[in-house]
Amino acid sequence: MNKNKNRQMNNIFLAAIALSLISSGCSHSKKLTDSSMHFAKNIVVAHRGAWKTNSLPENSIASLDQAVKIGCAGSEFDVHLTDDDSLVINHDAVFGGKHIQKSSYVSLLETKLSNGEPIPTLYQYLSHGIQQHTTMLVLEIKPSEISEERGEHTAQKIVELVQQLHAQPWVIYISFDYAIIKKVLELQPDARVQYLNGDKSPLELKNDGVMGLDYHYSVFKKHPEWVKEAKDNNIVLNAWTVNNAEDMKWLIENKFDYITTNEPELLFGLIKRP
Ligand code: MG
Repeated sequence: MNKNKNRQMNNIFLAAIALSLISSGCSHSKKLTDSSMHFAKNIVVAHRGAWKTNSLPENSIASLDQAVKIGCAGSEFDVHLTDDDSLVINHDAVFGGKHIQKSSYVSLLETKLSNGEPIPTLYQYLSHGIQQHTTMLVLEIKPSEISEERGEHTAQKIVELVQQLHAQPWVIYISFDYAIIKKVLELQPDARVQYLNGDKSPLELKNDGVMGLDYHYSVFKKHPEWVKEAKDNNIVLNAWTVNNAEDMKWLIENKFDYITTNEPELLFGLIKRP
């Protein structure tokens, strides 16, 4: 009798383990599909997070949270590689008087952001960013000031971390450095990438497998034909960094997919939210 009971308990135990494995497998695969995402259907990308209205530090976790809170489709941030191979979030090449790419991660912790946050690592930023499903993470890979190889190494470290965290559905990669753009695509051919430098036509990008362009808005005034060329070739159109209503209206009239701005609230005021 006892033996039977033990066997029954064992069976229940094994069934419970099997069930938990199946369900964890499901949630894992769910994480990797776009169908579990509910990205906001608007054109607003907050540049370095939504920092301005609440005087938050740019590129902080708090400014990412604010971009999510106000409903931005995307929130942009900048990534550098430190001297000891840590990936950190900051716009400028220098943080707290130290040249990021020539400094150790620990030495950067001596300075805090104005809201008390330490300089975020990419690991912290992505781990936090994938807790929500409404705002895409627009990840700018800063070029290396040391060598092209170091730049490609930076891209590799970033793509590996994004994959390790299963953050691919959230991430759009952007860079001014075309070698970095190509390296990302070599490592992850289906990655969503947008080139920033403004010197390639939509067709040139398409031929290299680049799915989008994110150029300074003045580039489109010089090359208005690129707007149609991009649309005809399914190249995503994004423009930076657009902070006044007049320029925003021009881009809205030209049906840009995204507008990257320091003034997301102003842009929200000009578009109809679905
Ligand atoms: Mg940037």
